[in-house]
This record gives sequence, C-alpha cells and structure tokens, in this order.
Amino acid sequence: MAYGKMKEFLQTELKSVRDGGLYKEERYIFGPQGADIKVEFPAGAPQKEVLNFCANNYLGLSSHPETVKSAHKALDDWGYGLSSVRFICGTQDIHRQLEQKIAAFLGLDDAILYSSCFDANGGLFEVLFKEEDAILTDALNHASVIDGIRLAKAKRYIIKHMDMEDLEKQLSSPEVKAARFRVFATDGAFSMDGDVAPLAKICDLCEKYDCLVMVDDSHSTGFMGKHGKGTHEHCGVMGRVDIITSTMGKALGGASGGFTAARKEIVELLRQRSRPYLFSNTLGPVIAYSAITIIDLLSKSTERRDKLEKNTMYFRKAMTEAGFDIRPGVHPIVPIMLYNAKLAQDFARDMYAEGIYVIGFFFPVVGKGLARIRVQLSAGHEMEHIDKAIAAFIKVGKKYDILKKSKDEIIAKYGL
Ligand code: PLP
Repeated sequence: MAYGKMKEFLQTELKSVRDGGLYKEERYIFGPQGADIKVEFPAGAPQKEVLNFCANNYLGLSSHPETVKSAHKALDDWGYGLSSVRFICGTQDIHRQLEQKIAAFLGLDDAILYSSCFDANGGLFEVLFKEEDAILTDALNHASVIDGIRLAKAKRYIIKHMDMEDLEKQLSSPEVKAARFRVFATDGAFSMDGDVAPLAKICDLCEKYDCLVMVDDSHSTGFMGKHGKGTHEHCGVMGRVDIITSTMGKALGGASGGFTAARKEIVELLRQRSRPYLFSNTLGPVIAYSAITIIDLLSKSTERRDKLEKNTMYFRKAMTEAGFDIRPGVHPIVPIMLYNAKLAQDFARDMYAEGIYVIGFFFPVVGKGLARIRVQLSAGHEMEHIDKAIAAFIKVGKKYDILKKSKDEIIAKYGL
C-alpha cells in the first residue's frame, strides 16, 4: 500500500511539530463571534465564558444586528449560492455593486472580488509582472503576498522591513532600474507588530524611481484613517497607491471574501487573466450583500472606527503606564513583548484562567526571542471589557514580575 510509507513519514513530521511545541490546537467557540464568547479549551474541558481580545473583528461587525439582518435579506432575495464562476453565470447585480462601492470607498478606479484576500494576492502579480519586471517586497509581508509574488516570473527583491534606505538602495540599483516595470508590495499594517508602513515616504521614493505601489490593507480597511478607508488615508497618500488588496474577513463583517482595488486597466486585465478569479466559484450573495451594507454603514458614519481608536489609545496608554513593554503605535494590534516563548504561553494560559482570551506568539510566527502576546482591540469592546483585560494583565504581570522591567531584565530572568 503506497500510503504505508508516507503515513510513517507524516507521523514523524507531526511528532516533530508537537515536540517543537509548534502544534496548533484549535479552540471551539460556541455561539457567535463577539466581545463575550464561550470557549472550550482544551478539547473536552468545560465551556468557559471569556472576553475575546484576539479576533480581527476590529469594528465589532461580525455578529452585529445590521450585518445579520442584511445576511437574512440577501438569502431571501438572492439565494444561497450561484454554482458558477463569475464569467459563466456567477455575477449578480450585487457583486458588481459591491465592486463599485469598494472602489469608491477606497478612492480607486475599480475593484474585483475574490473568495479571499489570499486569492486576491495569489492572482495579482503573475498577471501584471513578467520576466523583464522587478517586484520589491517588504521582508515581513503576509504569506499570501509572498506566495503571489512567487507565482510571478518577475525578479524579486526583498526589502528590509520598513527600511526606507534599503528601499531606495534597491530601487536605484542598475538592475531594478533596467526592469520594464517595477512594483513595491507592502502590507499596510503588519499583523504581528501592528506597525504601519510609512506610505508617504514609500510613495515619494516609488514616484522618484517610477515604481508602482501595492498595499495589502487587510488589517486596516474600514478603520485606519479619519474615514476608515485604510492606511493610504491614514498616511495621506490617497490617489498615490496603485493597487490595494484587502479582505472582508476582518473588519468588514469577518465572514470571508477579498478584493483587489486598482487603476482601471489593472482591474480589467485581472478580470480576464487572474486565475483564482477565473477558476474559482463566485463569492456567496450573502457576503456580497452584507459587505455592501457594511460599506454603506461606514460611509455614513465614522462612529465605529472612532470608538475603536478610542479603545485602542485607552488600552495602549493604560498598559504603558502599568509598565508593560508594548510596541508603540496607533494600531488596534498591540503586541505585549515578553521575549521568551514559554513565558508567552504561560502568560496567555493565566490570562485565559482570568477570563481574558489572548494568544501568545513565538518563533517561527515571529522572530526568535521576540515572543509576545498579541492583543487586538475592537469597537465591540466596552470600557468595562478593556478595564477587565488591563486588570488581568496587571495581575498576571505581577505574578511573573515583568512590570516596569526593561527588555534586558525580562530576558535576564526568563532567557530567550
Ligand atoms: N493579507 C493579510 C495581511 C492578512 O493578514 C490576511 C489574513 O490573515 C490575508 C491577506 C488573507 O485574507 P483572507 O482571510 O481574506 O484570505
């Protein structure tokens, strides 16, 4: 039996994942996503009510009554599925409406929908960039940007994370200058650090060296910038970014779906040639219609992104004052630096016991010796939720004696 040999190999692989402490156990949530959730962890343990500080539910819209109401309406009016790719018989009026709404909201010419942002990134680069082109890419870009670039035949240049000197050095190299087209691809906000790409400087440099700018704004669409348009609004470069990819799987309702918004001809060619668009089923009508409702909601009022900003700044300030080592910034992703992987795991476990659901991240998800707990704020959090989280952090922080301690002191105590 062919599988016998492979089975043994896979069992060994799985054992090494477990032995390395890298095995990911899934935790079951009972009921809808939100600030208060019921979780069963570990498997078989009694369900526990916890406050959720680890979802990408930035605007608290995942189970919001408006979202759910529009999903019900969509089911009634447009059915459940289309059983077709877009170009055969999988395009309803709402799919095109959503594309136009996204483009108008982001200030770009047009947009094209995908089943996910992973697909949007996967189907982007190979259509536009060939052997004679150059793709420059931030070293910490999301896996889907990396994979999308891998599929293209263009030459690839990795830029040190958010290092503008390195970007200029590589843009001005004879090889990159000789390319037919150039593009610099970056996440708008980076998911592990919550840092925001310096898009003003990036646009200046890219304009100087005749290079397009592509931003994956999955962790920003809907809430970064004064009107929630994203990091291009936050950085004051609307109209200067050529391509934005993003997801409906985070702030915009959290179900699934992605898109590429870009200049007119780019979107037109993607519709002709982008493989995950051409060869994969259309987005469910429920998602298309609910996303329209959400974009309308966000276009009318900035209330939810304002609340998220207030929650974020409140949490960041209180945690800094309490003596935690947090990476500074303005994004609702707040990394609480612990450096040691075991400490991050133990800390997260103790927070769970206190009723606060947060996750410890360590190598290889982040660099060696950079273990942390990543907190994600939401407009779905009320002040009392945030105060409870802060109080639990302080209690557990005292237990491990890491408050008001420098990085070196934490490392001296716990090692790397
Ligand atoms: N890009 C970034 C920066 C992300 O964080 C993610 C999700 O983790 C994706 C793309 C993929 O988005 P989706 O879940 O829509 O495939």
